[in-house]
Amino acid sequence: MWSLRQRIFKKINSTWLFVKRILLDYFWIMIKENVKTTIKGLTLPELREYFISLGEPSFRAEQVFKWMYGDRVDGFDEMSNLPKPLRDKLSDSFSVNTLRYSTSELSPVTGTKKYIFETNEGDKIESVVIPEKKRTTLCISTQVGCPLDCKFCATGLMGFKNNLTAGEIFDQFKLAGRDYQNSEITNIVYMGMGEPLLNFKETVKSLEIFSDELTTGINLKRITLSTVGIAPKIKELEETGLKVKLAFSLHSCFEDIRNKIMPINKKYSLNENIVELKSYAAKTKTKITFEYVMLEGINDREEDIKALARLMSTIPSKLNIIPFNSLEHMDPSGLAGKLRSTPIERIQKFADKLKEKNIIVKLRNTQGDDIAAACGQLAYHSQN
Ligand code: SAH
Repeated sequence: MWSLRQRIFKKINSTWLFVKRILLDYFWIMIKENVKTTIKGLTLPELREYFISLGEPSFRAEQVFKWMYGDRVDGFDEMSNLPKPLRDKLSDSFSVNTLRYSTSELSPVTGTKKYIFETNEGDKIESVVIPEKKRTTLCISTQVGCPLDCKFCATGLMGFKNNLTAGEIFDQFKLAGRDYQNSEITNIVYMGMGEPLLNFKETVKSLEIFSDELTTGINLKRITLSTVGIAPKIKELEETGLKVKLAFSLHSCFEDIRNKIMPINKKYSLNENIVELKSYAAKTKTKITFEYVMLEGINDREEDIKALARLMSTIPSKLNIIPFNSLEHMDPSGLAGKLRSTPIERIQKFADKLKEKNIIVKLRNTQGDDIAAACGQLAYHSQN
């Protein structure tokens, strides 16, 4: 009797040990997998912390940082100044690649090249390289899709799927830069899919990485972050001291119109945002770029010119006027389906009247040639 109980007890015990081992293995794999996706995207201070925790000298952080973001290698084997055992250990736990090249499309007229990259989770994101006379700009995404539902925006129509990590934000530069051999990328705009200030932490980390002198050589004066206006996050960005250039998707100076075309305005009003933008411009000593997509009958009236001139006289700024790229191919419903671009001759007059009022205005006539316009079209084709 006793031995039967003993046997049952033993059986339970061994089964439990077996289950425990499987669980531990599972958790270990999970932790490793998790870490694997996160080393790319670690900033220099984070890498220092990591190597110190391994008992390694902290200069290993600088070495790995340079290899990952400066030389942009594909594996730890290439990090030749690291001891072999450390390289092996890192290869076991981490991967330095966060994206895979999927497809690309080159415009033979403008030289603009659109890339589709795939994350390790299988999400598709888009980036665009836009060559200009004196510079080559890379437009990058910060989210897969976008939660904001701006009525004129292709990405908004597809909805939100995921935030990108700082590593995934960086690797768009790595892959596009490697492929685009016409010239080096000189500028970066955060104007691709998503709202960067709603993925604040990873966006800021990516800015820290891009702008570090050990990595890309692109300083913050050549990086522009575009936002719909998440007022408290503009404040937080200012507090980081990063001094990245800011573009603000204005599109109307009137709260009620902005509420309709950009529903996020009901949460963070234009007024609230303007307060933060003024503070940001003053603190960083930069001009704010106001982006303005021309929508017929909505924001192209005489009163819009007056309101723009009034607003812009109160803040160091310039205006980037963008012809609206139609969303007709997406067959949107409601207001999105009714939007039309202001005809180009009227856009020209609109711009001229603002210039007469001493507003700095930039307008390019060729659709798709403009950076914001090229970026504003991201999202649809790859997802469908
Ligand atoms: N969420 C951020 C960044 C992404 S959109 C933001 O809204 O600022 C970046 C820019 O793309 C917008 O400011 C807008 O100027 C442009 N854009 C979006 N949809 C567009 C369209 N259909 N036609 C032209 N430009 C568009």
